[in-house]
Amino acid sequence: MPRKPFIAGNWKMSLATNEASQLAMSIASTCSDLSDRDVLIAPSFTALHAVADAIKGSDIILAGQNVCWEEQGAYTGEISPAMLRDLGCTSVIIGHSERRTLFGETDQLVNKRLTGALAHGINPILCVGETLEEREQNITFEVLEKQMRIGLDKVDENSAHHIVIAYEPVWAIGTGKTASNEQAQEVHAFLRQLLAQIYKKGLAASIRILYGGSVKPENIDSLMVQPDIDGALVGGAALNAQSFERIVKFK
Ligand code: PEP
Repeated sequence: MPRKPFIAGNWKMSLATNEASQLAMSIASTCSDLSDRDVLIAPSFTALHAVADAIKGSDIILAGQNVCWEEQGAYTGEISPAMLRDLGCTSVIIGHSERRTLFGETDQLVNKRLTGALAHGINPILCVGETLEEREQNITFEVLEKQMRIGLDKVDENSAHHIVIAYEPVWAIGTGKTASNEQAQEVHAFLRQLLAQIYKKGLAASIRILYGGSVKPENIDSLMVQPDIDGALVGGAALNAQSFERIVKFK
């Protein structure tokens, strides 16, 4: 079965509630009801409620930008899977490189968050990616394999088909530098082979792998032509309704 293209917007720590709501309404009016692709937006936690209202009745998927693995309790600053669901989220970004590099999230912590989300019926987008230093040291595949194997630890085949992988080279995020189509395809093919080792070939062939890192209207079309690129996780360009619409409507 062909993999359905998936375009996801990560709004990071941007937009006050009313700005988020406006952007969500624009996106819902132009990017909804496209049955041949999935569209997701991940606003900051504070805007989730307003954005859920703004996209009501559309098929835009609402996502959190992180999630705790526990149901409730003494976890100051965290949001539980049940809280995300309560706000209308059915998906969550996990292991974004900003969480890993700025907030010290380890592969083990990422795995806890991911398994916690799955246990509560929230579909994770697992982000992986190498730094520039790691690429220059020729250890990209090693780094990615570790992030994937630990990140997916204890995730069985039944749960794995709810997961989307996002390959986001750290050196390409918010820098304006995009991996070339060939560089991205090479890594995506590697990740799919790895999924086939961890799971079965059929399952690996059905899991969507998104590319992220300075995706823009100008480069989305050629990225989407690559056989193992199934969509994009978009940061900066997802904050502009026209740019995001053009990315969603890639050719
Ligand atoms: C991201 O935040 O996941 C991202 C890829 O950002 P940008 O598109 O701005 O590089």
